[in-house]
Amino acid sequence: MSEATNYQALEDQYGLDVYPKRDVTIVRGEGARLWDINDKEYIDCAAGIGVASVGHANPDVAQALAEQASRLVTCPGIFYNDVRSRLLERLVSLAPHGLERAFLCNSGSEAIEGALKAARHSTGRPEIVSAMRGYHGRTMGALSATFRKEYREPFQPLPGGFSFAAFNNVEKLKAAVNENTAAVVLEPVQGEGGIRPGKPEFFEAARTICDDAGALLIIDEIQTGFCRTGSFFASDQLGIEPDIMCVAKAIAGGVPMGAMLVNDKVKPLRGLHGSTFGGNPLACAAALAAIDFMIREDLAEQARAKGARFVEQLRAAEVSRIRDVRQLGLMIGIEMKERVQPFLVALMDRGVLALPAGPTVLRLLPPLVISEDQIDTVAEAIREVLSAE
Ligand code: PMP
Repeated sequence: MSEATNYQALEDQYGLDVYPKRDVTIVRGEGARLWDINDKEYIDCAAGIGVASVGHANPDVAQALAEQASRLVTCPGIFYNDVRSRLLERLVSLAPHGLERAFLCNSGSEAIEGALKAARHSTGRPEIVSAMRGYHGRTMGALSATFRKEYREPFQPLPGGFSFAAFNNVEKLKAAVNENTAAVVLEPVQGEGGIRPGKPEFFEAARTICDDAGALLIIDEIQTGFCRTGSFFASDQLGIEPDIMCVAKAIAGGVPMGAMLVNDKVKPLRGLHGSTFGGNPLACAAALAAIDFMIREDLAEQARAKGARFVEQLRAAEVSRIRDVRQLGLMIGIEMKERVQPFLVALMDRGVLALPAGPTVLRLLPPLVISEDQIDTVAEAIREVLSAE
């Protein structure tokens, strides 16, 4: 048995069967590259599902982690901490206007759970409106706000009071929000739902609809945040002023972390919420290093320029299987006329790791440090694979 088969057999035997697995054992990374156990090299357009924006094995993050690991790893929220205090200040200073406090947690779903609780608690209202095709996570509350029935139905009864309105449709959103609505939850660009950018007019209207009804606007920047779409947060370029913003994924250079940022409409949650690992110094040190890197290297501008280069090449390829290319920064969706799965496998054979977003969308979320040469290589691989007979 080769080493690779051995590891795969162990995961298959001892890991709970949750993920449809790909036939590859990844063991190491650097920048936008990954290597499998046989030392085959890949250009990574998955980035841990939009996590590794500052690149794999980022030296700044590695150094911050090593230093912090030998100083202090854990420190619960009941105590003050030097690193955490600096990260909170940093996050608030970068966040859209009005967001002035943050709660730190460990994942995207956990940030959404916190936001849902904060909205119900602050408004005293029960109902949450989210968008058709939206995705907010797999825990019970986040799942209730997630559109796909296949994800939700096996787990009923879910928390009640959730409904869905068509994305980018002002009239439908207006009709869905009323005096019982605690919050509207929206992604600036729907990620899992197929890379569908929201329209600035829609978010402007959503702001007014929420204000008129006395509801809060929760923006889920878990996939779009931290430079991915060409601005620090997608809300910056779409002109969104959320009451609550949820982030995770890229925030800490690959170390698990989530956060919700809130404005002054959100009441304190003292004694009503918490998280053992939330805001631990190890993750906070990684986040500070990752955020410094994003600013120093202007990853927002890089995402803008590189995203444009990518899409120009994909559009120029004139592949008949492509129906549409949708994009904001380095968040790219290629809508195909057929199922995407076989093409993901063919790309992997050619040394490119990519993602689906639903059955027919090929999704690219590369590290934002991907080079122009690597982009050209990936675009050419996609052209070849999608053009094959
Ligand atoms: N919201 C969005 C927009 C996401 O893309 C994701 C993860 N793909 C989540 C929430 C859930 O995050 P996590 O998997 O960290 O719980």
